[in-house]
Amino acid sequence: MNWRLSSLDGLKLISNSDAHSPVKLMREANLFDTDLSYGAIMRAISEPDSPEFLGTLEFYPEEGKYHYDGHRPCGVRFSPEDTRRNDGRCPKCNRKVTVGVMHRVETLADHLSGRRSPAARPYKSIIPLIEIIAEVEQVGTNSKRVSEAYLDLLNRLGNEYHVLVEAELETIRRSGSNLLGEAINRVRSGQVSIQPGYDGEFGTIRVIDSQEREQISGQLGLFSCER
Ligand SMILES: [Zn+2]
Repeated sequence: MNWRLSSLDGLKLISNSDAHSPVKLMREANLFDTDLSYGAIMRAISEPDSPEFLGTLEFYPEEGKYHYDGHRPCGVRFSPEDTRRNDGRCPKCNRKVTVGVMHRVETLADHLSGRRSPAARPYKSIIPLIEIIAEVEQVGTNSKRVSEAYLDLLNRLGNEYHVLVEAELETIRRSGSNLLGEAINRVRSGQVSIQPGYDGEFGTIRVIDSQEREQISGQLGLFSCER
């Protein structure tokens, strides 16, 4: 989104997570290859061509409550283009739609979607591990089952960053389940299904649909039989 505004090209873009609860630390993060010191990190951020700033980990911005436009009471979710086509009005009640972040980006942008800033550092889009486990287990993120599975996985494999980004998929499959391994594989390769948030409604990122769930579970059953 930022790369579409050439006025931002001279800035180094960093990502920091909210710090309002411990479990949400490092949902977004900056990756450095420096000494662990204030001076070294400052240098990596402030020097334009420093190779010590490797990139960022990012949330999917579509999960935000105001990514797209729309009118929540009517269940109308609009892309910026839909809003323009409908003259900024909800087709069900004719009230003005609530305009979201992407609309503002489209208004300010001087490049098309997909353009990359010349000085850009790479980024990875991640989903918090708790949310991935909750989807795999088909229960809420605050459930006991999810927190137990989450802590168990961290105890066995290492920290959340390692599980999400670095761990071998086969190791995750063995320590968690086939379904979890496949879910993390899809997050890593960006094979996710996104329903952007709008007008106060959180967006959703789905990794595995119910039909595939049966197929993947079926494969699991087959492997269990073989053992
Ligand atoms: Zn409406």
